[in-house]
Amino acid sequence: MSELDNKVVAITGASSGIGEATARVLARKGARVVLGARRTERLAALAAAIEAEGGNVRYMALDVTEANSVAAFLAFAQKEFGRLDVVVNNAGVMPLSPLAALKLDEWNRMIDVNIRGVLHGIAAGLPIMKRQGSGQFINLSSIGGHAVYPTAAVYCATKYAVLAISEGLRQEHSDIRVTVISPGVTRSELASTITDTGAQAAMAEFRQVAIEPDAIARAIAFAIAEPGDVDVSEIIMRPTASAY
Ligand code: NDP
Repeated sequence: MSELDNKVVAITGASSGIGEATARVLARKGARVVLGARRTERLAALAAAIEAEGGNVRYMALDVTEANSVAAFLAFAQKEFGRLDVVVNNAGVMPLSPLAALKLDEWNRMIDVNIRGVLHGIAAGLPIMKRQGSGQFINLSSIGGHAVYPTAAVYCATKYAVLAISEGLRQEHSDIRVTVISPGVTRSELASTITDTGAQAAMAEFRQVAIEPDAIARAIAFAIAEPGDVDVSEIIMRPTASAY
């Protein structure tokens, strides 16, 4: 039996950063992984690399802002592998800016991807897990889900929302495990969505001590590998060198 017991794990936002690292690490530990994101050419390359290492993987185009797209993605995961054990609601965007910049489109984008995307994952995954009598949601919040920083008000609001939604989901279901992962600064493409030049410059400095996404992937593997009666409710991790 593999360390992760052949669990079927669907990962949103698997085309880069933490999602990509999570797919690689979980597949190496014996999970069957299903990758979703918009950039399918990236998913195809990642799936080929995982298969070359002997991993079990599928992928599908996914836009988490569309409830139907998330439902089709999780139905695909279940159909391909016969069940759905874990949904990693990882897809996220972070176009930081001061509120006074009034970037309403970017605020809405963060709400659509970071909050609605997670809710769409729950809406599609929960009925499948309830039928099975077990399942686990792993939702990506952030250190920005615990404190607010200038330029990050809306981003932090979305990550506080992930914490609140996850806590409610956990309390309402005694047969479903719910884990929040709250990373500090981690190497990825996340800052590439920032269009505000001041926020870009501050983020470049802030991200110099970033930890590798593998560290987050290992935490996710740990939360999955614990026995079914143990709910790892939240893991906060950050660079040792970071005050935030
Ligand atoms: P990346 O930018 O590297 O990855 C983000 C992923 O989200 C990509 O795979 C992207 O894929 C996907 N994505 C974005 N929009 C959509 C969409 N509409 N539908 C489907 N997928 C989408 O950043 P990270 O790996 O850092 O981010 C992963 C998560 O970790 C996010 O929730 C982020 O907020 C959180 N986090 C990250 C931290 C960090 O410092 N890196 C710190 C704290 C939390 P594609 O564009 O192909 O669709």
